[in-house]
Amino acid sequence: MIMASCIKGINALQGILSSRFHTSYPLAPLTSLKIGGMAEFFASIDNIGELQKVLNIAVNDGIRWRVLGKGTNLVIHDGLLKGIVVQLSGGFKKIRGYEDNRFYMGGGCPLSFLVKDAIKADLQGAEVISGIPGTLGGGIMMNAGTRLGSLGDLVEEVDILTKEGMMEKKKRQNMGFSYRGCQIGEDKIILGAEMRLKPGSDVRETVKAAIKKRHSTQPQGQKTAGCVFCNPEVDSAGRLIDEAGLKGCRCGQIEVSRKHGNFFVNLGGGTASEFLRLMEIVQNKVYQVFGIDLKPEVRIWAN
Ligand SMILES: Cc1cc2nc3c(=O)[nH]c(=O)nc-3n(C[C@H](O)[C@H](O)[C@H](O)COP(=O)(O)OP(=O)(O)OC[C@H]3O[C@@H](n4cnc5c(N)ncnc54)[C@H](O)[C@@H]3O)c2cc1C
Repeated sequence: MIMASCIKGINALQGILSSRFHTSYPLAPLTSLKIGGMAEFFASIDNIGELQKVLNIAVNDGIRWRVLGKGTNLVIHDGLLKGIVVQLSGGFKKIRGYEDNRFYMGGGCPLSFLVKDAIKADLQGAEVISGIPGTLGGGIMMNAGTRLGSLGDLVEEVDILTKEGMMEKKKRQNMGFSYRGCQIGEDKIILGAEMRLKPGSDVRETVKAAIKKRHSTQPQGQKTAGCVFCNPEVDSAGRLIDEAGLKGCRCGQIEVSRKHGNFFVNLGGGTASEFLRLMEIVQNKVYQVFGIDLKPEVRIWAN
């Protein structure tokens, strides 16, 4: 139920965003796993001005807010998710190339746009993110990458919006990039970033090879949220899960992929509770067999 104190703010948001503001909005279709309940409020945001207004109203009215990228590393709870979910759209989805092999990408821009532009211009670097299905914003928060390298390596400077609605610029060295994360805090929004690539050759072939390898080792065309667990420092979570005999292990409609143990597949109609229960089963078994505590890579959204 919406608190009376919030009604004015919610009406204001409706006025500003019109058909891009929704109540009780289904989130599952916006994720790669196809799991999740309803967002109490959902807003598709086209520009920084709108985003500042939304944050201002949310913060003043005590409404919790979250940012959704392409939902490719997320497990969203099954029930009603309180607060407002914002997704960057419109101008945030664009990429623009300019001199010195640099590109400016909006926070909602798919990572694949950089890979495509790199191939066109024969520039090297973006192959480290080829085949990763998320956006720039989600990619920076997760420091998405592969064994070849991470998105953070390509970043020059990031534009960030604080929860107070202030804009900040941060150079790569101040982002605190680490394995599958960065240290800017969860209460910030990535608006966009300047990326730099290097002159290269045979870039198309390198990307093709990276995608071929991905297709041969990971489940494709299935409902997953990417890697469920982070790799422990000196091992691979997939190998541990496989050797613990967990491939094909199921909880309801969620199954440990038979192709790659660190991917869980929603076979259809799976729920977040089943996914979380399977995570627990896998963590317990891997701990029992190897004494290693697997840490989640997926982000979990709950009230
Ligand atoms: C088939 C498949 C393969 C994958 N392969 C890889 C891989 O090889 N390597 C890898 O690292 N990952 C991989 N992933 C996981 C995922 O694609 C990446 O983590 C990606 O960077 C997540 O981006 P997203 O836009 O989907 O973020 P989401 O899943 O929507 O969000 C992830 C987190 O980022 C936050 N966030 C999103 N946008 C913003 C923003 N603008 N500002 C602030 N916070 C934001 C969200 O609040 C959330 O906490 C794979 C996933 C799938 C489904």
